[in-house]
Amino acid sequence: MRLRLPEERPAEPPTGYKIAHPVLSQDGTRAGFTGVSLGGALPYGVVADASCVYGLRHRAPHRRCDCGFHCVHDRTVAEALLCTAEHRTAVLLEVSVLGRYLRFELGFRYARQRVRTATVGPCACGTVAAALADAGWGRPGWRGLAPSCAGCLRGRTSVSLAGFARLAGEGLRVVAGSGAAVADLQADGLGVSELTAEAALLQARLDWFQTQLARLGERGHGEGDGPGAP
Ligand SMILES: [Zn+2]
Ligand SMILES: [Zn+2]
Repeated sequence: MRLRLPEERPAEPPTGYKIAHPVLSQDGTRAGFTGVSLGGALPYGVVADASCVYGLRHRAPHRRCDCGFHCVHDRTVAEALLCTAEHRTAVLLEVSVLGRYLRFELGFRYARQRVRTATVGPCACGTVAAALADAGWGRPGWRGLAPSCAGCLRGRTSVSLAGFARLAGEGLRVVAGSGAAVADLQADGLGVSELTAEAALLQARLDWFQTQLARLGERGHGEGDGPGAP
């Protein structure tokens, strides 16, 4: 006879940590996440139910399968995953483990989750991120996003951190950088700091746009038929 571990009945849902890539729907109206490994093909929202990634007709997580959401107990273990080259642009998620779960030494495999906080790392240039911008990859119907500062956005499709929180909904908190209070935004209600951040992004875009226009103008001028030509 096999010894079974006692069933846990926690008063509050356990907290876990994981990393994921933020994604934006093709029409720009929905935001979510996609896993970095197993289940990476299926984007999920802030509150989501797991299904078997192998399409097996059992409830996830199943003991003899490795389906279900995965997370680790320890924040630093999840953060360590962000060091690898392919995970540099992923974000750190703090999640509530809901529904049935299997507990392991390092973490949980479970049926349902709520993403409470997404912590966005710096832009590739090292500056604190102001937005999540088209990362140049995706899934059918979804664009992968990567952290970007206002200066590196250029013409890319992007959403501000507050915009991402708003599109993802369900009270998701989006935090920029390593806990610095640069952007700590709730989906509901934009404050002065959020609006200031949005304005800075718009200004950066406008600057980029005007630089492109000026460049076209110069080219036109050289040919003698630009807007400034006599
Ligand atoms: Zn399964
Ligand atoms: Zn940058």
